[in-house]
Amino acid sequence: MREEQKLYPQLIYRINNALSELKTEFKKHSDFNDNLFIAPSVLNPYSRTFNWLLVAEGRWKLIKKLMSEIQSKIKNSKNEWNQFKEEFKKTEEVKSVADAIHSIENSENLKPEEYHSALLFLYQSYPINNKEYFDGIIYQNLIIRAKKSDGKNHRIDYAEGELLIEKREHNELYPPVDIVFYYGKRKEPKKALSQVINNTKDSNNNFHKNYLLPFFGKYENTFDPKTFLVLKPEHFSKFRFLYIIPFYDALYGQYGNICGILTIFFSETEKRKSFIKSKAKEKLIARLPSYVEEIKRAALFEILQQPIEDSTDFLKNYIKCLPMLQDWERVMVWEIKKEKRISEAELIYCYKRYKHDRWDECAPVYSKCKKCKAHFDKLKDKIIKTEKKLIPSQNN
Ligand SMILES: [Zn+2]
Repeated sequence: MREEQKLYPQLIYRINNALSELKTEFKKHSDFNDNLFIAPSVLNPYSRTFNWLLVAEGRWKLIKKLMSEIQSKIKNSKNEWNQFKEEFKKTEEVKSVADAIHSIENSENLKPEEYHSALLFLYQSYPINNKEYFDGIIYQNLIIRAKKSDGKNHRIDYAEGELLIEKREHNELYPPVDIVFYYGKRKEPKKALSQVINNTKDSNNNFHKNYLLPFFGKYENTFDPKTFLVLKPEHFSKFRFLYIIPFYDALYGQYGNICGILTIFFSETEKRKSFIKSKAKEKLIARLPSYVEEIKRAALFEILQQPIEDSTDFLKNYIKCLPMLQDWERVMVWEIKKEKRISEAELIYCYKRYKHDRWDECAPVYSKCKKCKAHFDKLKDKIIKTEKKLIPSQNN
């Protein structure tokens, strides 16, 4: 897969646009809570990391003065900036990320809009580990549930969270969060699955979380271009109670992988309760499929721009790009061969996830890809049976 394929540069615009349309609509509802604060995140299925996409109104442009203040802050924060760059390397180097970094580091002749676009690109591309924060908890929970239930009925509908502000340690960026999962009308038996972030590197000089996030999220009266935001308990009290809605890539019944997550923050549980009962919430839920479509469209837009490398096999070209659309573990391509009325299924090639979630062709087929081999016999039979059902033999 080519480096440029891994991100959907226009997704941040699509998602924020859809959310601001929704907010405008909410304003017509009497039960709408005026301070509704929605933070969207999406799963980048290629790297299996999350991207945080919250951009406040009024943060889509940069004026010259602010630009030069940000420039000098970056120049004066060499360690934090270098650390920030390193974070991208944990997944895989992406050419467009390198270009944006280059633009920011050589920005003397850039216009504010070019500088803004590079900053925005780095902000949206920053990889959030799939085991961390609310998104990670939801994602991991889904994997656990899917394994237990053999892929059936594993989805959760929503989760409620509470930031345990007083339990936050000095070296932690965010307080631990206590999350309860819900599906259908029943509560999950596993209540209070909580996560403690205890990462000293993540403390108050993290370029993404203490600078870019407050800038694009426009935290009220907290962003100062000259300094990193040092998060204090009072910053969290407005966001203490969470209502978390995952949305899935398949809309059929209980199937599907996580596509993204919306987190809505409240200062009081009562406010959250009234939102959950409101028509505004119903509208939001009804809109989720359209956000999934936005994400898929953005991914398809990227796929369609990819050069065709292997002109003899269009299917292979498509499969190479599949992780941009799907969080699948493996794809196997079979050919059905008929000899003297007997059908045989033969594996042609397969793609699967490797270390660090890298997606690649298994090579050479049969000899090395042991994990795929485990599926051979079961699949072979299934394919032949399905083939018989779909294409009844002319000789019968
Ligand atoms: Zn394989």
